[in-house]
Amino acid sequence: MFELDETQRAIEQAVRSWCERNLAPAVPAMERGELLPYPLLRQMGKELGIAEALVRLAEHRLARLQALQGSALGGETQSGPGFGEDPMVTSILLKEISRISPGFGMALLATVGCGTAILSSTVASVIERYAVPVLSFDMIGAWALTEPGAGSDAFGSMRTTARLEGATLVLNGEKTFISNAPFADVFVIYARLETADGTRIIRPIVVERGTPGLDTGPPMRKMGMHDSPTGAVLLQDCRVPREHLIGNSEATQDRPAAAAVETLNLERAVMPAMCLGIIERCVEESVRYATTRVQFGRPIAEFQAVAFKLARMALSMENARNLVFKLAWAQRAGKLEAQLTSMAKLYCAEEAVRVALDAIQIHGGAGYMAELPLEKLMRDAKMFEIGGGTNEIQLQTIARSILAPRTA
Ligand SMILES: Cc1cc2nc3c(=O)[nH]c(=O)nc-3n(C[C@H](O)[C@H](O)[C@H](O)COP(=O)(O)OP(=O)(O)OC[C@H]3O[C@@H](n4cnc5c(N)ncnc54)[C@H](O)[C@@H]3O)c2cc1C
Repeated sequence: MFELDETQRAIEQAVRSWCERNLAPAVPAMERGELLPYPLLRQMGKELGIAEALVRLAEHRLARLQALQGSALGGETQSGPGFGEDPMVTSILLKEISRISPGFGMALLATVGCGTAILSSTVASVIERYAVPVLSFDMIGAWALTEPGAGSDAFGSMRTTARLEGATLVLNGEKTFISNAPFADVFVIYARLETADGTRIIRPIVVERGTPGLDTGPPMRKMGMHDSPTGAVLLQDCRVPREHLIGNSEATQDRPAAAAVETLNLERAVMPAMCLGIIERCVEESVRYATTRVQFGRPIAEFQAVAFKLARMALSMENARNLVFKLAWAQRAGKLEAQLTSMAKLYCAEEAVRVALDAIQIHGGAGYMAELPLEKLMRDAKMFEIGGGTNEIQLQTIARSILAPRTA
């Protein structure tokens, strides 16, 4: 069970060689902010068949909508277990990208998160106009939940509002730290929607760049993840058609921000694979270096301090790999639960940071230099302890789920 099958191994090889040929040479320019990730994202989507697989998801959704037309479909969400049909393939793809550039993986994840969120719409024309081009990378998507005053408490403290004026929705508010925002064509914005009975429910709403009242800030300067631009989104009396609302507008049928939770879970379920990519690369580079770098007349791997570091790094890799396999199994079996997702995200993020720091230490001064991939992997790794829910929030989720049966 805990091994890739022949097809998955072939996919891993194909993605690895594509990334080494195309992504690796582009990273230095993306790191310096001289090159945007999007043309390469489009190329990758087409050449590796990712766009085709994602558009198939949209076509399934459209066919389902057509079949259920006239029946009570409601706001039901059916956005599949991952990017494609096999969650392990999604993990392999993101792992391989992240061996070279986790930031590039983040640009991909944000656009796919936006596209799959739109698949929850019950309006075929919205799916055709926005989800299909976003999932084929012809348009770039962004997924906007976080606000200046609402991060970990994104739902409780959200201030962005949407009010219905006839057939129009009027949005006001501000989002921050949004991946792809400075260049995205399509945004899924989470807002508090004022319902007829005066209650406010959180709903995702599709907004296209160019809509009056929508503005974005410049790319923010940040520690890592330079190959996925991050920025703010400003909404000032921004008007979109009512059909752009995803899900039901009735408070009585609300599941608490279900679409947002679903996209968050998707993000949390794939981030461990991205961390595994960082860990794998760091272990490989470190074993190679430690066995060839000679000091005091022998390879540094012969010093116990270095060898034990390598042993701990290998242990982290093994554990992270097992968690990624278990997540894929749980997704396939329909048994993916918040506790496992949070455990995997927390463990893999912490280990990615620790292993990357150890890899730099083993490489000495060379590890600190940008010529090697390690310092970039370490800077990018840190994001996984924050984005998609911080370490502390994952711990809270795990604690709640193990204590709930005892405190109920
Ligand atoms: C590079 C990058 C890309 C991002 N992309 C996106 C995106 O595309 N879309 C999007 O919506 N968001 C995005 N985010 C935002 C990210 O999800 C938030 O930064 C994250 O959820 C944390 O929110 P915050 O930054 O407001 O921190 P805060 O919530 O203010 O937390 C600050 C500190 O307090 C701790 N804390 C808060 N509450 C508790 C508690 N109850 N118990 C214990 N500790 C607590 C936190 O763990 C943290 O250490 C991105 C962030 C980064 C860095």
